[in-house]
Amino acid sequence: MRVLLIGSGGREHALAVGLAADPSVDFLAAAPGNPGIAQVAELHDVKATDPAAVAALAVELAADLVVVGPEAPLVAGVADAVRAEGIACFGPSAAAAQLEGSKAFAKDVMLAAGVPTARSYACSHADEVARALDDLGAPYVVKNDGLAAGKGVVVTDDREAAERHAADCGTVVIEEYLSGPEVSLFVVTDGTAAVPLMPAQDFKRLADGDEGPNTGGMGAYAPLTWAPKDLVPRVLAETVEPTLAEMRRRGTPFAGLLYVGLALTPDGPKVIEFNARFGDPETQVVLALLETPLAGLLRAAATGALAEFPPLRWSDGAAITVVVASKNYPGTPRTGDVIEGAEVPGVIHAGTARRDDGALISAGGRVLSVTATGPDLASARDAAYTLVDSVRLDGAQFRTDIALGAVEGRIKL
Ligand code: AMP
Repeated sequence: MRVLLIGSGGREHALAVGLAADPSVDFLAAAPGNPGIAQVAELHDVKATDPAAVAALAVELAADLVVVGPEAPLVAGVADAVRAEGIACFGPSAAAAQLEGSKAFAKDVMLAAGVPTARSYACSHADEVARALDDLGAPYVVKNDGLAAGKGVVVTDDREAAERHAADCGTVVIEEYLSGPEVSLFVVTDGTAAVPLMPAQDFKRLADGDEGPNTGGMGAYAPLTWAPKDLVPRVLAETVEPTLAEMRRRGTPFAGLLYVGLALTPDGPKVIEFNARFGDPETQVVLALLETPLAGLLRAAATGALAEFPPLRWSDGAAITVVVASKNYPGTPRTGDVIEGAEVPGVIHAGTARRDDGALISAGGRVLSVTATGPDLASARDAAYTLVDSVRLDGAQFRTDIALGAVEGRIKL
């Protein structure tokens, strides 16, 4: 199988490692890729959000399968353009990617499908915002309606900060605060059949103890030893199946990766958000534990053959990933710092670049993530932090408590 992977972040490096390890893949290319992905794939300098250019590259490379990593190309219609060339594509159409592209659209689908989620209001005027904040009360949850790379949400007790974020965004969704541990569940789907991957937990806040600003994600681990045994079947029945059915009913079936972000509230799992692609950095840990060859699974979803796909095989162990971010992230990150010790197995590149003299340098906020596995979470954690210590990046920021609550048995439902 000839595979073209679209994107350039940590998620795509993790996907590239998984695709390259699939014995059915005899050629792997990526556009635009990054220096980590370059270790396992041929890179092409094509803009990920340009549907015509991506489709032309897929034709030129005689790709059998295109895998679209990030949300922006999906929302821009890259999957539609690839499929129009008769090439299988893992990733939803632009219309279906609105499940992520618009929070208001996602809420509308959830309401129609009867999916358990926070009560919410879509608002575009200050008076609507004030009414919604009055009704739902603190803590206030204010979400930018459009794509915001995981940083469009403000959760605060400060009414003025909530109103300011709403005013800055224009159109927002204001919703009820959901309490309880958060879980990310990835579901591979061809629009009808749904294959859940292993649930994982990510860490959105910058600093230890869930302090500091929201980020794109600072680490993740799996499995969730503390999660209820019926979590996955319950979320499939209450959320995934009805959502897929509603998307089919609307004439825009969702095929690709449905990312269900959940809060395990006292009233059961409720949806915090949908995404239309693999999550970063949870992908790093989920794929590290998946033993089923990845390309075959994604091709089955892309060709409507998922119902016949054999059950997934998983490693018995645990995986953890720790994100190393640059100085000032999630503000304007400092870039151009030299990175050492990052070109080894287990280091997944996200915001890295190659300088003219060949040095590896930081080129983004989340620079890399360090992934390790082990027979249990404690040993995977030790291995990951040992590897983090061997990476050199001036001004690096990382959390020291990824998976610690799970290892110490402190997570309460
Ligand atoms: P999102 O971009 O929707 O995933 O939101 C980012 C983060 O904000 C989530 O991972 C949660 O930690 C938090 N968040 C979003 N919505 C809610 C909610 N309704 N209740 C509590 N926390 C939320």
